[in-house]
Amino acid sequence: MNYISTRGGAEPLTFSEALLEGLAPDGGLAVPAALPEVDGETLERWRALTYPQLATEVIGLFATDIPREDLARMVAAAYEPFPAEVVPLRRIGEGIELVGLSEGPTLAFKDLAMQFLGQVLEYTLERRGAVLNVLGATSGDTGSAAEHALRGKERIAVFMLSPQGRMSAFQRAQMFSLNDPHIHNIAIDGVFDDCQNLVKQLAGDLQFKREHSLGAVNSINLARITAQVVYYFWAWLRATDAGGWTELSFTVPSGNFGNILSGFYARQMGLPIRRLVLATNENNVLDEFFRTGIYRPRGAAETLATSSPSMDISKASNLERFIFELAGRDAARVLAAWRELEGGSFDFSSEQPRFAEEFGLVSGTSTHADRLATIRSVHEASGDIIDPHTADGVKVAREYVEPGVPMLVLETAKPQKFAETIREAIGVDLELSPELGEMMAAPQHVVEMANDARALQDYIASSALRQVVQ
Ligand SMILES: *Cc1c(COP(=O)(O)O)cnc(C)c1O
Repeated sequence: MNYISTRGGAEPLTFSEALLEGLAPDGGLAVPAALPEVDGETLERWRALTYPQLATEVIGLFATDIPREDLARMVAAAYEPFPAEVVPLRRIGEGIELVGLSEGPTLAFKDLAMQFLGQVLEYTLERRGAVLNVLGATSGDTGSAAEHALRGKERIAVFMLSPQGRMSAFQRAQMFSLNDPHIHNIAIDGVFDDCQNLVKQLAGDLQFKREHSLGAVNSINLARITAQVVYYFWAWLRATDAGGWTELSFTVPSGNFGNILSGFYARQMGLPIRRLVLATNENNVLDEFFRTGIYRPRGAAETLATSSPSMDISKASNLERFIFELAGRDAARVLAAWRELEGGSFDFSSEQPRFAEEFGLVSGTSTHADRLATIRSVHEASGDIIDPHTADGVKVAREYVEPGVPMLVLETAKPQKFAETIREAIGVDLELSPELGEMMAAPQHVVEMANDARALQDYIASSALRQVVQ
């Protein structure tokens, strides 16, 4: 399986090559040259597999350049820190089931992809005799998932920028309690956008980037998208009965369009998904797009800080991969759309009916008041406490539940991560497990830094891992 660029201007790459690329050289994103197909017979055969076995099958369709036994070993290691089932499902009533994606070390769905990425990165670097210094910016979940997945890897160091004093106590503890010589937490005197701008500035300095083997593990990363496809198959297999070609729908709390893109790929591969419901919070640039066909990213000033912070986005980096399929895989049309976007927006309104008819994609928005009401009503009806992002999902899912069609909502985080909003919604103080209590009390490792690219460059130059030239 080769990977091509959505903008058509790059040489095809293998999975392992695409893994280390951020953007393709032509500014596009890597996509499979053709999506693999899974027939009904294969799907039924997969019903008996454990999560790691299923992951080996599904990822194996994409990572064809990695020997099966190596892949199986990496997948087993990636999901070792999870409970045996890895992704458990549970009913909350009203025809809705939650897909538990947050059982990993940092209590959010990003662990499922990041843990695999950590394994496959180390493996690929080892085979090439290379090292990687990951530079990233986080407002919370991505940074901690990356650090917990990449720590202890000999060939990988992490430089994670976060805005000083703007993460929750829980998020700070999750990152800063790590004591690993290759993990560098850098608290920038600024806001999240300042952190992201610093990353862009350094990554844009090609000589510095090459000299220090800088890379990224953000949500456009191909290995992350691939690993996420697995749990759509898993959830479908758990929620349907053997032999029955039951259709069901998924609702996905969305930000960068990474998670739901994986569901879209699963559907294109042949998994019988009826609807893919995209849920946004007040930053509803994607709901606007799926309702109107007009995509208008927002500026930092128009991006609100909400109580489902991991969905606070101004633009959705992975949308380009959907547009590529919508455009019939015609890179010239993608290129034209992104040229149009330089004027502030692009317009696919004439194609908007196809979003639902052909691709099953529909959407909705949830607000702070909706979030609180949904956390409350789910708690009253089932005793279950859901996190604010999952609540956005349940709120929008309820608008699309159909009789006889199971609705699966992806649980993207555990409520313990967002204790303040839970307290506001239901007046309950969530207890932390003994391990999490220990984490909160552990000494913290963080460097404070001015919002200054030179200072950051100096720091990285002095602590980055170096390529060993043989
Ligand atoms: C990252 C994140 C999301 C958004 O996922 P995308 O792949 O960016 O659409 C939703 N909920 C939580 C808890 C997250 O951490």
